[in-house]
Amino acid sequence: MQIVSSIEELRSIIKWWRGEGHSIGLVPTMGYLHEGHKSLIVKAVSENDRVVVSDFVNPTQFGPNEDLSSYPRDLSRDAALCEEAGADVVFHPEPEEMYDKGNCTFVDMDSLTKGLCGKTRPTHFRGVCTVVSKLFHIVTPDRAYFGQKDAQQLAVVRRMVRDLNFGISIVGCPIVREEDGLAMSSRNTYLSPKEREAALVLHKSLEIAEGMAKSGEQDAGKLISAIVKSIKSEPLARIDYVELVDAETLEPVKAVKAPILAAIAVYIGKTRLIDNFSFCPEAQ
Ligand code: AMP
Repeated sequence: MQIVSSIEELRSIIKWWRGEGHSIGLVPTMGYLHEGHKSLIVKAVSENDRVVVSDFVNPTQFGPNEDLSSYPRDLSRDAALCEEAGADVVFHPEPEEMYDKGNCTFVDMDSLTKGLCGKTRPTHFRGVCTVVSKLFHIVTPDRAYFGQKDAQQLAVVRRMVRDLNFGISIVGCPIVREEDGLAMSSRNTYLSPKEREAALVLHKSLEIAEGMAKSGEQDAGKLISAIVKSIKSEPLARIDYVELVDAETLEPVKAVKAPILAAIAVYIGKTRLIDNFSFCPEAQ
């Protein structure tokens, strides 16, 4: 496995692979990898001849008061995990390599990015769409792998690929959780032991609502109230949002009649965590 930091070098590797007739999978990440990331890489390895994992803390997707400088980083640990999962290249560029001085071109989206995380993070998805587009142009993958953990990001990338004719298959992968249910996240490292315990409320509250939906509850208001009530029972938790939206358009729904996404963002102390579940009434 190679660690590559230059776009030019990566392009020449891709050119070589293409000459050999290889299919290519891409797993975009911000590094500090865990089992959630690994599940994406393992899937990519099983479906492609060659796999690139990008490991880049993308500055354009962070707001001015967010955790860009404190975001955890550990390239050698990441490289070991990628190698174990069977990746061929870890692409780890410096910000200056990805964003040329004077860069002023961005990829943005009208809808899908305004609600949910977009409300608190108004420039976040512009950064995501921009960096993912750049990675798609550099790597030209056949398939790219994204986690359902970031459900809005997955929906946004799917829409972008359709709207801009990237011709890349977007593969969504299930949320990987700790044994006690907490969704794995690089940001979990910010949590103190007390906060780590309190963070369980995200999954617990979603489980309550999922159980209600499975039992036939269709009233979105009631499902939301159940989640809110459960989160509010945890003193260290502060709700950013709790929403039930259409799984594809991400527009809020009043009733669960088509596939929906129940998505939440909750501050545990200073750490903002997200989680969600998808539910398809027809599948019941
Ligand atoms: P990040 O490094 O947080 O930007 O995440 C990179 C990719 O890994 C994204 O597509 C995430 O949705 C995915 N991912 C992060 N955490 C998990 C998880 N717990 N389960 C599945 N996928 C995840």
